[in-house]
This record gives sequence, structure tokens and C-alpha cells, in this order.
Amino acid sequence: MSFDYKEIVPYLLEWFDYNARILAWRENPIPYYVWVSEIMLQQTRVEAVKGYFDRFITALPDIKTLAGAEEEKLLKLWEGLGYYNRVRNLQKAAQQIMRELDGKLPADYDTLMKLPGIGAYTAGAIASIAYQLPVPAVDGNVLRVTKRIAGSFEDITKEKVKREVWQDLIRIMPTDRPGDFNQSLMELGATVCLPNGKPLCEQCPVMHLCKAFHEDTVHKIPVKPGKKERRKENRTILLIEYQDKYAIRKRSEKGLLAGLWELPGVEGNIKRNELIEMLHEDGITTAEVTSMGESKHIFSHIEWHMIGYHVILANDPLKWKNKNLTYTWASREEIINNYSIPNAFLAYTGGLKEVSNEALR
Ligand code: SF4
Repeated sequence: MSFDYKEIVPYLLEWFDYNARILAWRENPIPYYVWVSEIMLQQTRVEAVKGYFDRFITALPDIKTLAGAEEEKLLKLWEGLGYYNRVRNLQKAAQQIMRELDGKLPADYDTLMKLPGIGAYTAGAIASIAYQLPVPAVDGNVLRVTKRIAGSFEDITKEKVKREVWQDLIRIMPTDRPGDFNQSLMELGATVCLPNGKPLCEQCPVMHLCKAFHEDTVHKIPVKPGKKERRKENRTILLIEYQDKYAIRKRSEKGLLAGLWELPGVEGNIKRNELIEMLHEDGITTAEVTSMGESKHIFSHIEWHMIGYHVILANDPLKWKNKNLTYTWASREEIINNYSIPNAFLAYTGGLKEVSNEALR
């Protein structure tokens, strides 16, 4: 159902003037910076993004350098942010911009939407923040805030509901400050109108206009249907070491963590003696096998329940019977500088994965 949000505009803009967090991409909102930051901020908190953003912009300062960056460097810059398709699409879009759009991010909502990785929200954010075009940017934060203000129990996962919020907001966009208005809604959602029933209503500039607050329904809004259960997978991860080098391998180009480097592993949670037996069958003799404990990593649809072992080899991998076990052997420094290993393996990579700034130059 439609709602008139006109009255919230001046209160939100004034609040934003005094409460906006100082962020590099806000201080200098050139289109490239806004774009990169918005892609990083999908699924990731502002505090976590800050360091990544600075490093990315230092290494790839413009669309041209992004378009021409080597994949390994790109993935290294994104290492730890997850959802690596975001950075691959970022580069595809940069290449398309170089080829077809004169090297400039288009100042047009519909053209922005045609670029890889840019949907309605990101197009709205770039158009309004970088180009001052009066179009909304509706993400989960904005849906939560608007639906609470409207006291609405509509299901915010429905496209129809998102479209209606977008239409309600485009009607009342302040044409002199569209970027600030969109950011004020996002900022309110991120810092005051918090999810999971814990908003700081007493600090909210639109409390007097908020239906959910007055009707005491804040904790019931937004309405989302129950999420699907994630699939659980058990895995055994191996940190295999031989003469100060570690075994890594590249994942398949399709599916989860596509094309990224990983530590070897096998399906299931294997006990230490089973592992040693299995390795022996492949002609691998071990000097030491130590447990590295259990860990869990949650992806959007899958959970990995892992146990890990540090395996120190006694014989040369070239002498293994199983010739299918072809790994890349890299030293600690080479892994830090040249290979991006996702955070899913963090419990077992330990010191192998500290990101050095040297690596990113
Ligand atoms: Fe959100 Fe509370 Fe403000 Fe309403 S009053 S918009 S629920 S923070």
C-alpha cells in the first residue's frame, strides 16, 4: 500500500547534516568511488569496508585501471570481503564502460542498470549521490525504515512491495539534495533504525512521524517470511606442508567460491587415524598430523562444518602414487602476496593469510 513520506524529508536531511559518518566515498563522491563503495557495501558493514575501499582505490584509482587489472590482483584486493562475483562484475562493467561508454560511468539510471552487477539499488545510489539525479535507492535498510515509518506489515521480500516503496519515494525526492536524502535513509537504517527489534527510537529524528513507534509494532516490522534452511556440509580441510611450502589448489570456475584458491580438503569430517590411512593409500607418508580443531563458515545457502589438520609430509609429493593430487606448492610469502584464499579457510590458514600492503601494490 502506498504511503506519503513527504513529511520526513526535512527532518531526515537536517539529521543527516549533523550525524552522517565521515567516509572516504562521501567526502569525495565521484562516480567511481560511489560505485565501488556501494558494491563493497552489499552484504558488508561500513566499518569493515573502510580499509578495503582505501586499498582498492589506491591500487586501482579509476575505471581504466580496474578494467585492465589482472584477475589475481583483483581477487587479492577483495580477499575477505566474500561474494567474489561482485568484484568480477565490477571489472566486467568497467571493461564495458571503457569499450562502449567512453570510459565514464553513465549519468543515467536506465543505462547504469544495464551494466553487470548494477541493479536498481546501486543504480539509484550512483545516480543520486554522484550525479544528483532524483531517483530512490531502495535496499533492505531503506525498506525496514520506510515500512516502520508507515507502520506497514507488508512482506518486504515481495517485488511489488519494493516497487511501491520506490514509487512512494520518487514522488517525494528533494530535487536539490536527492543523494543526501537517499543516504539519510540508509544511514538511519544503519545507525538508528536497527534490525532485529533493537532500534534506537529515542534518537530518531522522525520518531514523531513513525507509525510503528506510536502503535508499538516496531519489533514486528519489517515482515519477511521465514528464510529457507541452509544446507549443511561436513568437510575436512588440510594444511599440507612440505619443506616450508604449502599445498593449495584452484577451485572450479563454476559454483561456490568459483576460481578462487583453497586449501585441499575432502568431504566429511574425518578422524585423524582415518586421514593418515587415506593418505598412506595415496602413497603419502606423514611426519606429523596435528588437529587444527573445528570451525564453521556460513555462506548464503550453505554452511560448512569443518575440521582441519596440519599435515607435515615426510616424502616428496612427486613420489605420491595418486597422480590426480596435483597441487600448487607455495611458500608463506607467495601465498600472502599472490594468492587469494577466501575467509572460509581462515581457521586453517592462520598466519598464511595476513594481507600485506606490499602484495596489493
Ligand atoms: Fe525506526 Fe524507531 Fe525511528 Fe520508527 S522511531 S523510524 S522504528 S528508529
